[in-house]
Amino acid sequence: MIRVKGLTKRFGENTVLNNIDLDIQTGERIVIIGPSGTGKSTLLRCLNFLDRPDAGMISLEGLEVDAAQATRKDILAIRRRTAFVFQNYALFANKTALENITEALVTVQRTPKAEAVAKAEDVLQEIGLGDKGASFPAALSGGQQQRVGIGRAMALNAELMLFDEPTSALDPEWVGEVLDLMRRVAEQKQTMLIVTHEMQFAREIADRILFIDGGRIVEQGTPQQIFDAPKDDRLKSFLRRVT
Ligand code: ADP
Ligand code: MG
Repeated sequence: MIRVKGLTKRFGENTVLNNIDLDIQTGERIVIIGPSGTGKSTLLRCLNFLDRPDAGMISLEGLEVDAAQATRKDILAIRRRTAFVFQNYALFANKTALENITEALVTVQRTPKAEAVAKAEDVLQEIGLGDKGASFPAALSGGQQQRVGIGRAMALNAELMLFDEPTSALDPEWVGEVLDLMRRVAEQKQTMLIVTHEMQFAREIADRILFIDGGRIVEQGTPQQIFDAPKDDRLKSFLRRVT
């Protein structure tokens, strides 16, 4: 289980995350929804220390990190055990699909090179890009690039996969293949925390949905509870706008 306690992040005067508590069960698929600018990306980024939290505890099995006091060693330990999928893929343009997948395995997880290459080849097969290992990102479609982004995260065998609006930058024609791949990842009982505006997908895949507004978890529940019986007025008005 992963436990987040009192997670707080400020940018200057702006308190973007306000004392967030969140327990995530192993294998749980959590979808985060909410208006833009309410701290969804910041929450994911703080969990991976892409943004440095101001306060809070982050606990993984056998590792408890006080975010405000985190050392480089703590941050590396968290990064080894979490994987991030970015809205804009964030692939290295000067590396091939295969190299994009081996990069973090070698540098963050210290996997021997030959083992990393074998792992990346397996992942490329799994994401349906077995013949694209030598291709550079510019030669791939948006959907293929994001599948590499997801493959890179899959290769890490992370305890927690963080997805920040993985289909928002895609042309509509590529959204389906990326959501299909995420469904396959979910079937493997991977623990996932997903920010998305794809409400149908959220309803289908989520064990639990969190509605975030103003840096707080305003309401949470099963897809049925959130979509069919929302309680908070902010959630109701959000759902009217997006569905
Ligand atoms: P969301 O993902 O829900 O759209 P974000 O987490 O990206 O929201 O942003 C939440 C708030 O934090 C916004 O007001 C945004 O302007 C602010 N913010 C995010 N990143 C930074 C940053 N690096 N510096 C200053 N403000 C930031
Ligand atoms: Mg965002």
